[in-house]
Amino acid sequence: AVFAQIEKAEPKIKAFLRTHKEEAMQKAADIDEKIANGDKVGSLAGVPIAVKDNICTSFSKTTCASKILEDFEAPYDAHVIEQLNAADAIIIGKCNLDEFAMGSSTENSGLQQTVNPWDADRVPGGSSGGSAAAVAGRMAFGSLGSDTGGSIRQPASFCGVVGLKPTYGRVSRYGLVAYGSSLDQIGPFTRNVEDAALMMNVIAGHDGRDSTSVTEKDAPVPDYTADIDKPIEGLKIGIVPRFNEGASDEVGKAVKASLDTYKSLGAEIVEIDMPYFDYAVATYYVIATAEASSNLARFDGVHYGHRTADPHDYVEVYSKSRDEAFGDEVKRRIMLGTYALSSGYYDAYYLKASKVRNLIRQDYTKAFEKVDCIMMPVSPTTAFKFGEKTDDPMQMYLADIYTIAANLAGVPGISVPCGFDSQNLPVGLQIFTPAFSEERLLRIARMYE
Ligand code: GLN
Repeated sequence: AVFAQIEKAEPKIKAFLRTHKEEAMQKAADIDEKIANGDKVGSLAGVPIAVKDNICTSFSKTTCASKILEDFEAPYDAHVIEQLNAADAIIIGKCNLDEFAMGSSTENSGLQQTVNPWDADRVPGGSSGGSAAAVAGRMAFGSLGSDTGGSIRQPASFCGVVGLKPTYGRVSRYGLVAYGSSLDQIGPFTRNVEDAALMMNVIAGHDGRDSTSVTEKDAPVPDYTADIDKPIEGLKIGIVPRFNEGASDEVGKAVKASLDTYKSLGAEIVEIDMPYFDYAVATYYVIATAEASSNLARFDGVHYGHRTADPHDYVEVYSKSRDEAFGDEVKRRIMLGTYALSSGYYDAYYLKASKVRNLIRQDYTKAFEKVDCIMMPVSPTTAFKFGEKTDDPMQMYLADIYTIAANLAGVPGISVPCGFDSQNLPVGLQIFTPAFSEERLLRIARMYE
C-alpha cells in the first residue's frame, strides 16, 4: 500500500532520496512467513518506516543530502536502525533533508527539493523535511528524523504530523552523522501520539557506543504505551504569554484554542516567565556552528566522499574538494563556527554562549518547579513559500525561536497538530516536560488527541 502511494504522490512531493521496494517486499514476505510458522515477531512487525538520510544504513547510501557524500555507503547500521530491524520494522527508504541537517525548510538540500504535501508552493519545514513529508503524504507509517534545533518538531508542525525530540541522551546517536554533537537527538515522526510511543519503545535505551547515552540504571526506559490513555490529573500547564503573542495571529489563535481544550479537560494554566529564552537563537547559532565546524573537518577529500579531480598539492585536495561539494549554508556555518572558536574570539563567543546556555537550562528547571509542562507554538508561522527566506539567513534562523532552547537545555519536546490556518495549512502545538519524562509528555499530548 505504501509503495502504491509512493508511486502516486512521490513524483510531486519528492520526500525520498531513495526507496528500496524490492528489499522491503522481501522483508515483508519473510515476516509473513515467520507469522505463519508461529514464530515470535517484533513490536513493529511489518510497519513501513522511512529514515532521514543522515542516519547510517548498511543497505542504502547515507548522503546527508550533500554532494560531498553523494556516493557514500556506510559500512554499518546506526543503533536506531539495528533497533528497528530487531523490532521487524521495514525500512522503505531514505529521506531528504537540508544538507547536513542545517536549515529549516529543506531548501538547503544539495540533491532535491521536497514539497509540503498540503501545498506544493510551500516548504515542508526542515531540516527533516523529507521524513515529515513522507508521513504526511501517507508514504510511510512513521519515520525517523534528527533534531538539533527543531528539525523534527518544526517540519512536523508544517506538515501536520506528530514529531518528538527525545531528551538528550535518551536515544543513541551512534550512526547519526554529527552536526552539533551536544544538541543532536534522533526521534520519530508519526501520524498520532500513540504511534510515537510505539516507536520510542523501540529506539530509546542505552547504547555503549554513544558516550552520552544514558544508562538503564540512571534512567530506565518505561513502556511508553502502557499508560498512554491515562490523562494526567490536575495538570499544570506553564505558558509564557509574550511567546504566544510573538507568533502570527493565526498560529496564536490555534495555540490558544488548544489551551482552552486542555482547560476543559481540567488543566490549570499558569503564567511563567523564561527570561533567557530570548537569547536562545544567538546562543544556538554560536554553539551549533562551532560544533559543526569541528565535526565537518572530517570531510577532507581523503578519507571518503568527494575528491577534487586535479589538485596541485595537498592543501588543494582539502580546500577544493570542500569548495566544490559543500553548499552555501554549510560553508557559512563552517566559517561562523571556525570564527567563534578561533583564538582571541573563543571567550567572547563560544564561552559566553556556553554560559548563556546554562541560564537557558535554568529557565526550564525553574519553570518545572511550578508546572508539569510548558506549552507554546512550534513556529511563529505556518509553512512558508519556497524562496521566501532563502536570501536572508537571519530570517531563517529567527524562525527557530521556539524550538532551539529545548536542545540547549536537553529537555524533550513534541509537536502535535492543533488546527489549521485560513489557508488550510497545519499548525503545531509544542509541549515540553523535564528531562527523561517522555512518558508524561506523550500522555499529555495524547490527552489532546
Ligand atoms: N534550523 C536549525 C538549524 O538550521 C535546526 C536544524 C536541526 O535541528 N537540525 O540549525
